[in-house]
Amino acid sequence: MQTVSRLKTGPSPWQEELARSFRNIDQLLDYLQLDKGQRQPKPATGIQFPFRVTPAFAGKMRKGDMNDPLLRQVLPLTEEMKDQPGFSQNPVGDLEARATRGVLHKYRNRILLLETGACAINCRYCFRRNFPYSENQLGQASRQKAIAYLQSHSEVREVIISGGDPLMTANSGLGELVESISRIHHVERLRIHTRIPTVLPSRIDSELVRIMSRSRLKTVIVAHINHPNEIDQEVENALKPLLEAGIRLFNQAVLLKGINDSPEVLRELLETTFDIGINPYYLHLLDRATGTAHFEVTKEKALFLQEELRKNLPGYLLPRFVREIPGESYKTPL
Ligand SMILES: *Cc1c(COP(=O)(O)O)cnc(C)c1O
Ligand code: SF4
Repeated sequence: MQTVSRLKTGPSPWQEELARSFRNIDQLLDYLQLDKGQRQPKPATGIQFPFRVTPAFAGKMRKGDMNDPLLRQVLPLTEEMKDQPGFSQNPVGDLEARATRGVLHKYRNRILLLETGACAINCRYCFRRNFPYSENQLGQASRQKAIAYLQSHSEVREVIISGGDPLMTANSGLGELVESISRIHHVERLRIHTRIPTVLPSRIDSELVRIMSRSRLKTVIVAHINHPNEIDQEVENALKPLLEAGIRLFNQAVLLKGINDSPEVLRELLETTFDIGINPYYLHLLDRATGTAHFEVTKEKALFLQEELRKNLPGYLLPRFVREIPGESYKTPL
């Protein structure tokens, strides 16, 4: 009997899996059976934005391939240390959009909460890789103030819980947050922006599905999947209960040089996500955060890709190609 009660208070299976993440580049490259001689381009060490990859994500990388599209999303390269003109610490004007601690109010009737700065994996192209989370994440302490802000802004129809990755927060904390948002009458929709579905599918446990589905709010989850290889049976199984509970699933991806900047890869991504119940949302042009220049795809190439997708996919599988221009009142179509 004692074991049962200990299980209840101990870490969840997903937290245990997270604890087994790769935090050392050589360990991951060993696991991928890449000999020292094959490690080209040479990974960089000592970069401030830490290296971090879940076992679930690493398990979908091809062995022996330094150019694997999943590996390239997480592998630190020396290019990150070069300063590039036009790239900055505050690429999309998030700092100017802060309303109160942990709250970004950029667009008229949608509000974004920076629930936590933590993520299950660290994506090297991340637009918030330089974001000062320590002073700007919501956490328990500033929730009261954030909720008060929401209450006093009756124009807000939708609350986006983002980060970092909001699903890094344990169910108890997340449940309370959703509960307090749902008590605000003028809020109708709840949205979660998360990379969890393909990087830590075990996180989508039954309690999370309950939290998402029992709320009076219409609930939307926007996943972040960049490459079809991120999707496997485990991902499909994890999402099924959410779909069955009536939660709507969308995907946003970032256009990344050498990873998904080909018509074939994008088409496969859009078809595969659709197969598991996810509709396309945005395809973002890279936000120009310091250290990410080597991922940038030109506007001309993006237009070409958009055209190719239009020729090869039904209209409902076309994502909106957008980029974020600081100061604009919505994400700007290409
Ligand atoms: C992207 C973003 C949103 C959501 O924009 P949608 O076009 O509704 O998806 C809201 N707030 C902030 C700060 C954002 O960056
Ligand atoms: S999961 Fe999202 S927020 Fe976290 S590092 Fe990746 S892109 Fe950035």
